Amino acid sequence: MPRQQKDANGHKLTLVTRTTQADERRGEREERKMLSSRAAAAAAPISVPTVAALRTKRPSLFSTFIAIPTLRFSGGNICLCSSRRSSSRMYSNSIVSSAAKPLQDPDKLIDSVETFIFDCDGVIWKGDKLIDGVPETLDMLRSKGKRLVFVTNNSTKSRKQYGKKFETLGLNVNEEEIFASSFAAAAYLKSINFPKDKKVYVIGEDGILKELELAGFQYLGGPEDGGKKIELKPGFLMEHDKDVGAVVVGFDRYFNYYKVQYGTLCIRENPGCLFIATNRDAVTHLTDAQEWAGGGSMVGALLGSTQHEPLVVGKPSTFMMDYLANKFSITKSQICMVGDRLDTDILFGQNGGCKTLLVLSGVTSLSMLQNPNNSIQPDFYTNKISDFLSLKAATTV
Ligand SMILES: [Mg+2]
Repeated sequence: MPRQQKDANGHKLTLVTRTTQADERRGEREERKMLSSRAAAAAAPISVPTVAALRTKRPSLFSTFIAIPTLRFSGGNICLCSSRRSSSRMYSNSIVSSAAKPLQDPDKLIDSVETFIFDCDGVIWKGDKLIDGVPETLDMLRSKGKRLVFVTNNSTKSRKQYGKKFETLGLNVNEEEIFASSFAAAAYLKSINFPKDKKVYVIGEDGILKELELAGFQYLGGPEDGGKKIELKPGFLMEHDKDVGAVVVGFDRYFNYYKVQYGTLCIRENPGCLFIATNRDAVTHLTDAQEWAGGGSMVGALLGSTQHEPLVVGKPSTFMMDYLANKFSITKSQICMVGDRLDTDILFGQNGGCKTLLVLSGVTSLSMLQNPNNSIQPDFYTNKISDFLSLKAATTV
């Protein structure tokens, strides 16, 4: 801590204590101690006040999952975030894992799994542009009898709308193979038998509404509330629907104060009202010029006003992985998760007990992967998925 002092001539001096090597070693010891105590806390179920209260009020909603924190590193910071995991499985995200290996023998990886789960943006396409070699790679994997599944945290589109995007890009992908977080939100509500006489308030875009409609749930909000304003006249009170039993929050370009207040009232005042997040992504790529505030910013606003932790259904929460494994009867060790983000895709695969492959065709560079502050290490990394073909060619020459 700098100290102020005056010299003999009355000049102000700032004294700074020099850090010795012994001080640094002491600091490192304390940091290690703190990390291990946090890791211990992460390994044990926690009592999130909201979840605990809901569990008491509506035990049927919590028959399958428990909420535990996920310990992860992000740019040198340690974050504790709530995720939902099957109570029957052990917490599998390790703090320190061995360094990722470059993919050298794709055949070995292909032969060791029966299913490939692909993230979309940064893996299959970038914005509206298909990444080189994707159609041929998918065709090769299909010809080998591999099951292909496409998972995205982007909730702005429904499965059907994503199906159209695949088609426009010339990819032959069935709607049943696509799992967006908009679908995951509806699937989660179905999995807990969310009462059909209750309503869902949506902060998010069209994709969530379409999936809720397909699943037969009543909803309100969404794009319709995008233009709503609040006039803060003396005595003004916002009414809200007491039949709202869940608030679903996803990425929303038309996010506003009306939606924050409406969602907050539902969560705080409607007994047992769930707070569901499609994802907590810090950033998203709306244009290729810069990173934009992601779905996590909308979720964070509601978290701030309600002081309740959301139930996350998108990556890296394992809800979608559990859902896929059940739906297709897949053993998770027979899955390879392929993605371009460490803190969502790779963590999602690792949380699910799958093999993981990082591609450098999206947001993660080799230097980010190899940064000493990054502890999320996939099993393998490669430049892009078409390396499955080029490396294969190279190894068979
Ligand atoms: Mg991606």
